[in-house]
Amino acid sequence: MIGVYPGSFDPFTSGHLDILKRAARTFDCVYAAVLENNSKSVFFSVEERKEFIRRATAEAGVKNVVVDSFPGLLVDYARMIGATHIVRGLRAVTDFEYELKMDAMNSRLAPELDTVYYMAEPEHAFLSSSIVREVGAFGGSIEGLVAEANHKTIAERLLKR
Ligand code: ADP
Repeated sequence: MIGVYPGSFDPFTSGHLDILKRAARTFDCVYAAVLENNSKSVFFSVEERKEFIRRATAEAGVKNVVVDSFPGLLVDYARMIGATHIVRGLRAVTDFEYELKMDAMNSRLAPELDTVYYMAEPEHAFLSSSIVREVGAFGGSIEGLVAEANHKTIAERLLKR
């Protein structure tokens, strides 16, 4: 079974890493796939975001992850790489509503592709990329919110914006 974990990952947080690690235990291989043309405006480049995922997974010793990015529709990308499942994380009720909409559309576009959801660990339940960007931009500590391997690079980049 092949999973695809899509996201903006702007930047990749400890919450994202937790979901990816758990998915890597379920699937033979998981593609961590950065969205290239997102409706959201992003801070970090696609290359930077991919590098954060590579470093975080290397540090965590997760082997069966492929780091990639894709333009266009997730279902097209998922079919191209032969994914059997989409992987998503759920934090709160607000995530649930959004995920429900995405799932309805994805199953319409690709009925053969199921989505599996992992519940956020309580310690990550209120962690988001946008919180990391906001705190970091004002020089607050983001230690523990992102992988140790990326902590310094992300903190410095956010301060220099
Ligand atoms: P998107 O722009 O697709 O929502 P994100 O990078 O914000 O991308 O999130 C990717 C996925 O990771 C989503 O399923 C989101 O719910 C999940 N996620 C984000 N933050 C956390 C967290 N702290 N704990 C668990 N899952 C999370």
